[in-house]
Amino acid sequence: MSGGGPVVALSGGVGGAKLALGLSRVLPAEELLVVANTGDDFEHLGLHVSPDLDTLMYALAGLDNLETGWGRRDETWSFMAALGELGGETWFRLGDRDLATHVERTRRLRAGETLSQVTAAFCRRLGVGPRLRPMSDDRVRTRLHTAEGWLDFQDWFVRRQCRPAVRAIAFDGAPAARPQPEVMAALRGGGLRAVVICPSNPLISIEPILALPGLREAIRGCGAPVVAVSPIIGGEAVKGPTAKMLREFGIPPGAAAVARRYRDLLDGYVMDEADAAEAAAVGVPVTLARTRMVTLADREALARTVLAAADALRRPA
Ligand code: GDP
Repeated sequence: MSGGGPVVALSGGVGGAKLALGLSRVLPAEELLVVANTGDDFEHLGLHVSPDLDTLMYALAGLDNLETGWGRRDETWSFMAALGELGGETWFRLGDRDLATHVERTRRLRAGETLSQVTAAFCRRLGVGPRLRPMSDDRVRTRLHTAEGWLDFQDWFVRRQCRPAVRAIAFDGAPAARPQPEVMAALRGGGLRAVVICPSNPLISIEPILALPGLREAIRGCGAPVVAVSPIIGGEAVKGPTAKMLREFGIPPGAAAVARRYRDLLDGYVMDEADAAEAAAVGVPVTLARTRMVTLADREALARTVLAAADALRRPA
């Protein structure tokens, strides 16, 4: 499905990576640029951990752990066990193979490489064809205001298992962060086929990306159709706290509610057949599809549907 110019895909981790993999299988490698949320990044055990970037990298490399949805496949846990014996922090699980990613990334960052350079180098080594880039090389940290006060993202997400109700979200560092330069060049360069917003949590996976100065404007001005895919199916999230968080924000969770978060950007929306009753409330042209991605064929089929929806929206030159 080539020929229409490059596609820029904005993504978080688990849900986004499924569609990113689908896109990578139906597009030539040079026509896909995947932009990863790094608001979830944190420093842990002295290491720079980039959960969404790694979920995407492992998925695109065919190294992802299909059981957990995060981390690497064929993983072993000797490091965690030994760390526990020493009384170290074990609430954030780092497998032995995954650990190598964090150790080597941290070393390279300390030696002066940017996160983009490190990611590009890892992707080359792991045989990832499409470009995968962090949303920014600068530090952005998602923080959540909860009933227990402000919490760092992973403290809330992993240690507290998303339990404390969220009242507000902040993206520390975002106002001063520069969007990744290749992403901005792609958006400003013209000739894009589409911007795809993957089925990720809007509040903590996509909105940190959109919070970067100039990015929203660049997407709006890029001239290509912007199409999002709903992460909500039948009123619920497939996995994770998306629906819970929307409820805590006073937003009844639904496919249309997610579309409204992107209202200033969207040209088209792909949502599940199960949510057909909400289509009229979306406000932009809707494509109904089976959006639950279980198999590789599901991922490819949804990727084709999204590209077809975008191509149908493209204004004739
Ligand atoms: P995280 O950063 O790991 O939380 O990952 P994302 O934000 O990218 O993904 C979480 C979202 O993905 C949740 O809202 C899920 O409902 C959604 N999701 C997961 N699997 C699927 C799927 O197969 N289809 C769709 N449409 N959404 C999915």
